[in-house]
This record gives sequence, structure tokens and C-alpha cells, in this order.
Amino acid sequence: MISRRAFLETLAVAAASPMVRMQTGSGEWGSPVFDLHFHLRPQPANNLAHLDGAGITSANLLTRAGAFDQVKAVQAAAPGRFTWFSSADVTKPEAEATLTQAVKDGARGFGEMKFHVAADGPELRRMYALAAELQVPILIHFQEVDHFPNEGTWSTGFARTFEGILKAYPKTIFIGHADAFWANVSADYHNEAAYPAGPIKRGGITDRLLGDYANLYGDLAANSGNNAMTRDPEFTSGFLGRHQNKLIFGSDCSCADGRGAGISQSNNPAASRLAGKCVARETLTALKKSVPAATFRKLVWDNAHTLLKIPV
Ligand SMILES: [Zn+2]
Ligand SMILES: [Zn+2]
Repeated sequence: MISRRAFLETLAVAAASPMVRMQTGSGEWGSPVFDLHFHLRPQPANNLAHLDGAGITSANLLTRAGAFDQVKAVQAAAPGRFTWFSSADVTKPEAEATLTQAVKDGARGFGEMKFHVAADGPELRRMYALAAELQVPILIHFQEVDHFPNEGTWSTGFARTFEGILKAYPKTIFIGHADAFWANVSADYHNEAAYPAGPIKRGGITDRLLGDYANLYGDLAANSGNNAMTRDPEFTSGFLGRHQNKLIFGSDCSCADGRGAGISQSNNPAASRLAGKCVARETLTALKKSVPAATFRKLVWDNAHTLLKIPV
């Protein structure tokens, strides 16, 4: 016989468990949701505030080298709700050792990788080889257009050179993210704006590479992903359907409460269209209205679990 107190404790644990929510199929999105692209916040409670406020079940923490103790604290505060990736400065000789140790400590991937180097340069090539060796995915920020003066560019050359990288590293699982990855869904893009608007010209590089290369996935996070998926609704439904096993929901949202309070896109003036909004909520809404329920569930839950090898 179970005591009343033990029974109440069981209920409390069950209520906090993503598995239970998943089984009930409840939650405001009609499916459990996993956020692939969630930057670690120093206070455990602030991480949970965003997930709970946006109706998100669990998330992948993107961390910098040396964050393992913080990751452990967040995981302890909410068992079962957080996985993590680690990045390391790719220009430093110790990057490979740092990332190898992170994977030994439980990191499920590299990311986000955001450095002022070329996408096909020697610094990132070392990381591509290591990701294949350790059998973890690598999440890359591609950006060719400054958001503010002197910001600089990140993992440059996506449109020109990345197909060669996909061919050269067939055993590396790449997750594409950010401005250049998403602007290149349109065939008429030539680095003229960070976030191009208007109808999408079919046959863009990103669309083609996702179709042609089994080792490329796409992270739907941030203003870049949201912008690409809201420019041209007819394109969006077709694109999400074509690549329904290779696209993964992420937020990259920095709002405080999962409802748009605070600053959602790190004061990026080019992303002012999402000011006062929660990127997670905006993108989940766009995805949900663009695809059938079974596809939505793949984008926001199943694909991430398969790719990150997270037991369900
Ligand atoms: Zn990024
Ligand atoms: Zn948010």
C-alpha cells in the first residue's frame, strides 16, 4: 500500500516528466516539442522558464567549452528535459581535445560552431573530420552579411563551397543554420541582404543540397529559419514535405519567458520583425499551419530524437 505522501510525490514526478506529457499527447502544440537550438542560460530556472512558457517539452543546450558544470545543474533541475552540444574555438589547437572530452562527458554534438573562418577552411575541416570520428552531428552558423557594422562573417562560402564539403566528408552529419543557409532556399539570392523577403525562386541551393546529400540536415531556428518559412506559404508546405525527415525545429530565442518578454533576437536590428515575440512560438505556429499533424511531429520531435540518438 502506498502512502498518501508517496502517492503525491509520484504524481509530482509524473507531472514533470516529458514522457508522461508525450503519452497524453497534450500540450498546446498537439505534439511534444523538442528545441534543437537553445543557448544555455546561466541560471537553471531561466532555461525552464523559456521551455515552460513556450510549451516546449525538452531542449538541446548549445554551450561553450567549460560549461559542463552548468549543464549538469540544469539537467539536475529538470531530469530528462535537456541534452547538450558543445562548441570550442576552432582557431585554437586544443579545440579537438576540448570537443572530444565534451562528447565523453555526454555532449551529443558540436555546436553551435560560429567563428570567423571559411566553411571550407582548415579550422572547420578538422572539426568535420572529428565529428565523423566521434559519430556526432555538427551544427554550423553560416552568415555572409553583417547585422551591424564590423560584425564580420561566419563560416563563409556556403553557396560556393559547401557542396564540396558534403562530398568530401560523407560520414559527417552536418546541421545547417543561420542567414546564408536559409537565404539560399531561393535560387535568386546573392548575399544582398541578411534576410531576403518576398516569394522564393524555386531550385535554391539549400533545397537542392538537402535533397541530394544524406548527410545534410537543417535547423529551423532563429529569425533566419522563421523568415525563410514565412516568405512564401506555398513554397513552405512543399519544402517541409520534401525534407520532412531532415528538418528540425529550433528556436534560438533569447526572450525571457517563452512569450516574447525581454529581447528575443539579441538586439539584431535586421531581425526587428520578431521584436517582442517569442521565436519559438512564431516558428511553431508557422510550421503547424503548413504541414499535416504527422509531419509536424517529425519536425518538432521525432527527427531530433533520431539524429541526436535520444531514447524516447
Ligand atoms: Zn547562430
Ligand atoms: Zn522565446
